[in-house]
Amino acid sequence: MNVKITAHKPGDGGIVCMPLKSNIPDAGNRPDWNLVTCPTCGVECWESNLIREIVKAEGLAAACTTCALRAGWR
Ligand SMILES: [Zn+2]
Repeated sequence: MNVKITAHKPGDGGIVCMPLKSNIPDAGNRPDWNLVTCPTCGVECWESNLIREIVKAEGLAAACTTCALRAGWR
C-alpha cells in the first residue's frame, strides 16, 4: 500500500486549510485575504483568493488549520 503525501491536486478532495488569525494577526499586506470564521469551530481565520478558487472549482470544504488537521491528517 502506497501512502503519498503531496501538495493538493485537482480531484484530491478533502478540506482546504485556512490560516488561523491567531497565527497571522495582521494580513495587511495580503489584500486578497478576507477574515472569515471557520464553519466548523467558529474561530477567526483567513480566506485567500487561492482558497476561494479551490473551494469553488472543486466543491471542497474550507476549515481552519486546526479543523483541517483534525479531519484529514491523522
Ligand atoms: Zn475550525
